[in-house]
Amino acid sequence: AAKRAGGGAVTYDASVHDHHSALRLELARELRTAVAQREQLVLHYQPQVSLSSGRDDGRDPSRAVLTGVEALVRWQHPTHGFLPPCEFLPLLEQTDLAHPFTALVIDTALDQAQRWHLAGYEVPVAVNASAQCFTHPGFVEQVARALHRRALPARLLRVEITEEALVVDPGRAATVISDLRGLGVSTSIDDFGTGYSSLSYLRRLPVDELKLDRSFVTGLGADGPGVPGAPAGEPRGDEVLVASVVDLAHRLGLHVVAEGVEDPREVRVLRSLGCDTAQGYLYGRPAPAEQLSPELLETTRPSWRWVPAQRVAGP
Ligand code: C2E
Ligand code: MG
Ligand code: MG
Ligand code: MG
Repeated sequence: AAKRAGGGAVTYDASVHDHHSALRLELARELRTAVAQREQLVLHYQPQVSLSSGRDDGRDPSRAVLTGVEALVRWQHPTHGFLPPCEFLPLLEQTDLAHPFTALVIDTALDQAQRWHLAGYEVPVAVNASAQCFTHPGFVEQVARALHRRALPARLLRVEITEEALVVDPGRAATVISDLRGLGVSTSIDDFGTGYSSLSYLRRLPVDELKLDRSFVTGLGADGPGVPGAPAGEPRGDEVLVASVVDLAHRLGLHVVAEGVEDPREVRVLRSLGCDTAQGYLYGRPAPAEQLSPELLETTRPSWRWVPAQRVAGP
């Protein structure tokens, strides 16, 4: 609200606000072009590694076994440089671009999955679906066509959704999740624990995986205060929480991925709690597909599992 100060000057500077909305409008217009051209929006890929392989205890991340990658979008903007998703995803939700954008992300991710597949690697690629797209009537059909066009096995695609998408229309979400499962595409709940954590939906939704939000992972294994009132030497609060989520998930037949793993101490605790998979800077930052470590990629060859001794021994 504009306020008149003493001499009648308006202290609220409307020009700042106008400047921002003008910028936002322009960015929305440019995003439309970027989605149509399909050149400026690029995907980076971040490794997900097994915590149950026995090869990796977090001390030597190069011994990790790759279980998949997550595709994360970036905008190579002609004048503003490299923009992270938080800078432009909110714009998508306000426009009709969400669907063509998601189609672009799925096509790009599957093109990459196909390149790896043709080279003999099995690298499931996880894509993030916005709440709006996920429940769109054409979504499953679009996924089916994208896989079919490339003759790509459905197991090479995973779809990540946030808890928001589930609460907006739980019935619809359940249908979409089962339809995806019907195709052979698995689903993950992203940022688990930060949203509308009504655990009861887990029982009803045929999801395959929980991605434990980074906020629960950061600091695991570090010294710090335990549960309030608990005797010294008892596990920390985070650890109790993660242990319970892993236990619950496993009882429901779900995998658990820990997000934002940066420290080997976190790996040690996650492994001891039976967490299945880890993703985080410790194992690799999101990067162009060509930058994925060849050693990691090699661990996805179907034949690799039969010759682990040679691989482990190294040169
Ligand atoms: P997300 O799906 O939870 O992705 C994980 C985010 O955590 C990514 O941020 C990733 O770079 C970051 N991250 C991974 N490991 C670490 C770590 O060890 N430490 C820290 N501090 N951060 C880590 P990013 O790439 O900025 O993406 C942010 C969010 O944007 C994603 O969160 C996802 O919700 C959304 N997003 C990204 N790509 C897409 C997309 O193609 N479509 C849609 N709808 N949303 C997307
Ligand atoms: Mg995600
Ligand atoms: Mg996440
Ligand atoms: Mg997150």
